[in-house]
Amino acid sequence: MLTEVLTEMVKIKEYLELKKKENAQFAAFLNNLGEASPFMVSRSVHELAAGFSKVVDCTKCGNCCKFITIHITGEDRRKLARRLNITENEFRSVYCRSTDKGWAFTDLQCPFLENNCCTVYEDRPGVCHAFPYLNLDSMTMDGIGFSKGQELVAMAYRCPIMFNVLEELKKISGFTKTLDNQEGNKPVEPEQTAIEEPVNGQKKPELVPAGSAV
Ligand code: SF4
Ligand code: SF4
Repeated sequence: MLTEVLTEMVKIKEYLELKKKENAQFAAFLNNLGEASPFMVSRSVHELAAGFSKVVDCTKCGNCCKFITIHITGEDRRKLARRLNITENEFRSVYCRSTDKGWAFTDLQCPFLENNCCTVYEDRPGVCHAFPYLNLDSMTMDGIGFSKGQELVAMAYRCPIMFNVLEELKKISGFTKTLDNQEGNKPVEPEQTAIEEPVNGQKKPELVPAGSAV
């Protein structure tokens, strides 16, 4: 079981490779939860993400600006064109491509990312405010990016916040207990509530006790 906050993608990917089978089981576990549980899971994800966002430095990562299609609304286009002092048509022809869901930045790597920092931060597209889609009050397991447990696991390969959320979610969803029971009657630990000790100089965020998020 992971006992520290991992923030480096190299270490995260190594860990994920070791846990491939477990993560496939966890994805199936999430998919099989009853109707009320996805709400508990999404609320827990929301709170965990808020905590891990405080200890993961996005400026050392920037993956969501490199690997995700960023869709642009008309308002996004207007703001960015104004900022760049060009017309909206010029903006569209230089920076955008048409997709079946509307306009998006031409390349996956955002043209406004420099040294892992956003150079148009105040005028960034609306979708950029939301990534990794874990802080939305309305998020549900059926919501954006989380229609399947596999998608939740897949995001851990890109996003350190999501990776740490995933690991904590295994505990608070009850999945870890099912593993312990499978492994030969190890004593079942109490539900996770909080881990106080600093790890690598970082403190884990407060966790949501199982069941309290509903
Ligand atoms: S992928 Fe996750 S950790 Fe990386 S910059 Fe985006 S939100 Fe931050
Ligand atoms: S506009 Fe900024 S926040 Fe959005 S993808 Fe580009 S660099 Fe990232």
